[in-house]
Amino acid sequence: MVVPEPQSLLISGGEVVSSTSVQRADVLIRGEKIFSVGALGDARADATIDATGKLVIPGAVDVHTHLDMEVGVTRSSDDFTSGTVAAACGGTTTVVDFATAYRGESLAEGLATWHGKAQDKAAIDYSFHMTITELARPADDLVAEMVEAGVTSFKLYMTYPERLMVSDEVIAEVMTAAAKHDALVCLHCEDDATIAARRADALAAGHTEPRWHAQSRPPQAEADAVLRAMRLAENSGAACYVVHLSSAPALERVRVARERGLDFYAETCPQYLYLSAERYEDVPAEAARFVCAPPLRDPYHAEELWEGLRRGHLQVVATDHCPFTSADKSAGLAGGGWKDFTQIPGGVPGIETRLALIYQKVVDGDLQPTEWVDRCCTSPAKLFGLYPRKGELVAGADADVVIFDPSAERPLVAERLHMNVDYSPYEDVTVRGWPSLVLSRGRIVARDGEPVEARGRGRFVPRGPSGRLAAS
Ligand SMILES: [Zn+2]
Repeated sequence: MVVPEPQSLLISGGEVVSSTSVQRADVLIRGEKIFSVGALGDARADATIDATGKLVIPGAVDVHTHLDMEVGVTRSSDDFTSGTVAAACGGTTTVVDFATAYRGESLAEGLATWHGKAQDKAAIDYSFHMTITELARPADDLVAEMVEAGVTSFKLYMTYPERLMVSDEVIAEVMTAAAKHDALVCLHCEDDATIAARRADALAAGHTEPRWHAQSRPPQAEADAVLRAMRLAENSGAACYVVHLSSAPALERVRVARERGLDFYAETCPQYLYLSAERYEDVPAEAARFVCAPPLRDPYHAEELWEGLRRGHLQVVATDHCPFTSADKSAGLAGGGWKDFTQIPGGVPGIETRLALIYQKVVDGDLQPTEWVDRCCTSPAKLFGLYPRKGELVAGADADVVIFDPSAERPLVAERLHMNVDYSPYEDVTVRGWPSLVLSRGRIVARDGEPVEARGRGRFVPRGPSGRLAAS
């Protein structure tokens, strides 16, 4: 017997947390949308879920993922099915992945490739940034074309000269076009000259172990690049967003830029909040699992990042989810085993664990529940043109809802998670709080951290103009 999906659903008695308030309220869903939020005790619905004792929050938005991405001879180990299923289990209901137009390829071709990767596979809604690696046509034309296609943010790299890096002149051109078209420019900020010199020195001295990955990418290289980004943003008037900010001096530069009134934003990621460069002191095969760029830092930086998050100098927590299996990490970018640290595929898994990891600061009393929702759900939706369709529980929004059980406990071991990778960076962490139910456009996609069959239900979300947040 086929049980019809309820057309309306009442979530009653939970604590509804938004980016600005916590209130006991009911949430009524009709079809794929939120119909109303408030005291709805007498509302009629086909089904009711009792959320007493639970938090009811907007589905989380992860604006930094790399699903099914080629890197050297390998590729990130989660595709759009496994990656979005894992995201849903952890309470994320929208991902914005980085489509890339490699050199010699048009932006439209790059975008079509990523649509092909996601279509009929994603379990939750998704959208794309566009990574520009060269300007084959005037930036204004390229930006206008992508905005028309629902892609309103652009990624530019200040390092990785082999495949991705662009010059400051290209960054300036893209920023000028982005400012004109209300798009957001996302920057990977690490100074390439510093990295190149330090790498060469390390290799010349015979230093090949993973710890030299971190030694060759110091915090100052990040801070210097952020300063350059700030000057470029100031000259162009563009809104600028620093991805995966990892260090205290870089954070300080962001704070200064914001004090000067620039539309300058930054995200950090759980790996920079929870993990430290100590991991690189382990045996090389183990240490390689933690190679990512920017690298993990000394614990002092994490303390500063938590503080920056609390004070709003950092507006977003995203994941930079880019998993590789232990075997792929060991094989290296060219296959057959890496010979030195420059050959280790960079990235760590995290698409499933972000919401709960950040919630731990709420448990500790160091972060308000509203700040948790803001950094993980609302601000990313606003900045990336998804708001108010995503990131807020309001009438008319998509019914992407997480019922979060603050008393659930979950060890973050690989066996309990759904990312397609054989290790967890947080194997020694047991979190308090986990989603007990996750809805994507009114349909259940995860229950008690386990997936409910939903592959192929996710849709591409064309995004509007990137929002600008009020200065904090
Ligand atoms: Zn990334």
